[in-house]
Amino acid sequence: MLIPKVLLVNDDAASLMALESVLMSGPGEPDFELLTASSGSEALREVLKHEFAVILLDVNMPGMDGFETAEAIHSHPRSASVPIIFITAHYDDELHRIEAYRKGAADYLFTPVIPSVLLTKVAVFVDLTRKNLELQAKTEELSRLNQDLRVQRLQDLERINQELEAEVAERKVAEERANALSIRDPLTGLVNRRSLIAQLEHAVASVDRNGSEFALLFLDLDKFKHINDTLGHEVGDELLRQVAARLLASVRVSDVVARLGGDEFVVLLEGAGAGANAARVARKIALAHSKPFEIKHHRVHTSTSVGIGLYPQDARDAAQLMKNADTAMYHAKQNRRGSIEFFREELNTRERERARWIAELQQALAGDELELLFQPRASLPERALSGIEALLYWRHPQHGMIAATEFLAGLNDHALLEQVTQWSIGAACTQAAEWRRAAPSLPQLTMSVDLPVLRLSTELADNVLGHLRKCKLPHGWLELDICEHLLIGNSDAAPVLRQLKAAGIKLAVDDFGSAGASLATLRALAMDMLKIDRAFVHDLDTDSGADMAAAIIHLGRALGMRVLAKGVERDDQLTVLNSLGCDQYQGDLFSPPLQAGAMLAMLQAQYTDSITSQAQNKPAHHANQNDRGPRR
Ligand code: GH3
Ligand code: MG
Repeated sequence: MLIPKVLLVNDDAASLMALESVLMSGPGEPDFELLTASSGSEALREVLKHEFAVILLDVNMPGMDGFETAEAIHSHPRSASVPIIFITAHYDDELHRIEAYRKGAADYLFTPVIPSVLLTKVAVFVDLTRKNLELQAKTEELSRLNQDLRVQRLQDLERINQELEAEVAERKVAEERANALSIRDPLTGLVNRRSLIAQLEHAVASVDRNGSEFALLFLDLDKFKHINDTLGHEVGDELLRQVAARLLASVRVSDVVARLGGDEFVVLLEGAGAGANAARVARKIALAHSKPFEIKHHRVHTSTSVGIGLYPQDARDAAQLMKNADTAMYHAKQNRRGSIEFFREELNTRERERARWIAELQQALAGDELELLFQPRASLPERALSGIEALLYWRHPQHGMIAATEFLAGLNDHALLEQVTQWSIGAACTQAAEWRRAAPSLPQLTMSVDLPVLRLSTELADNVLGHLRKCKLPHGWLELDICEHLLIGNSDAAPVLRQLKAAGIKLAVDDFGSAGASLATLRALAMDMLKIDRAFVHDLDTDSGADMAAAIIHLGRALGMRVLAKGVERDDQLTVLNSLGCDQYQGDLFSPPLQAGAMLAMLQAQYTDSITSQAQNKPAHHANQNDRGPRR
């Protein structure tokens, strides 16, 4: 901390020493620094070097006296306001004193000075100066703090600014990402549905203005669910990405390729000749998909069905064009997976007919128009009745009796098919229970029922078991005919089949040879029976037909399954089947489908016959030809 300074000026060394000792004689350490000068000019030099709290100035000095010295000190701006106390021996000279005040004296002391007076007067100025110095120090400190604060605030501002800039940049990236996501499909990076619709509407508006045309290709991968189910979702995702890449490689840069979702894609071809171009591009795409995809050490095969719609020929607006191209794709898929179909109005007519058919079938379910006929089957070589197949028919008010194979053909409505299946299982169980009540001595028989569902579900199994319980039917009575295609590519199938089998229900593979189920699948599912499709039986008189039947029979044997041939109409067919070792047969040769009453009569006759024939050792008889239902 700065210490106030006091200057003592006196030419007389003794006086100087005396005053000095008075000034230093205060209580405690003096709180000022005392400097001395022995002449006016020396005092001036000191004043130039230091700032003084007060100057004690002797008036009578040789050369420059006290007044002149005071004048000189006060004339300099640096020391203009320094207080001066004159010390003189002329205490009685009033004029002298006035002169001193004129020269800027702050006070006036007479020698010999009274020490306490001198000390008090000096202390006043020292104290004032110290306070000033403290004030000055605090002001400097404050201004330094202010400066620091300014620097700090500047740094803070800079940091906040940087943070803001980073946030703005981040927000920009997020906005760009959101923007990209709003127009891009995140999995494949292709244009998404929303953006496609916007581009389609733009294409429609531009065609409406310019009178040109454009084409929309609607694509859906075939059996993609099977790939997900067998190889996992990640492989499925990678396949979708690779399909997207092949699609992009098959079209021009200016064409739009979009993923609508799932395994559905759309290609939009604009520009001159888009209509003519569409089939060529669709073929190129189909070719690109025909090569296998290499995914995680798997070679994945797929195909895609394509529907093509043209604007303005096929639709009034973008939404209708999408719908019509989708309809064309649906028909391509129904026709042959991997094929290409152009939209034509007739497809919509077919679509409407299909919708009407579904509505009528729903009414038929509610309105008692469905019924079962029963076709007996026989064992070989005995040709004795060995079981019954319940066949579903629709007694249509206009079209008469229609077999399920016809009225369910091409129906993709899972819920409706499941309802129909439930109905036939319920009706078959109820009928079997009625026969058992009417003829309590009937032996255990097998009643087989078709499952025309799109997939096997646990709900279906629960319902089947529910019907058996309700009808109190022993489980060995029921056999379910399961189409081969339901056994493959469906991870739910095995547990459902195990559940049914555990309940004593027999399981038969229907239409064997139509879907290419692997031997491993057949063995793993432990099915009871293979049914040879009527088409193979029909071809038995050809070499290849007979070879095929022989192969199926041997395969069935090898897998521990019984084999039944369907649609046997002639004796020569039966002879071949018998010679090949087929276990059972069914068809008009033994009996066409029968009404329930006729079936019961046949069962009772067969049962009586079998007892009689056992007694007389003669063969069992064929069905009563007079009570037959429609041919199947
Ligand atoms: P179809 O031959 O009749 O077209 O039958 P599909 O097996 O290809 O089945 P469909 O086209 O009806 O259904 C597509 C399936 O794609 C349904 C769903 O399980 C699956 N899926 C939907 N989105 C994704 C996805 O993002 N990734 C994967 N891996 N699968 C998806
Ligand atoms: Mg598909």
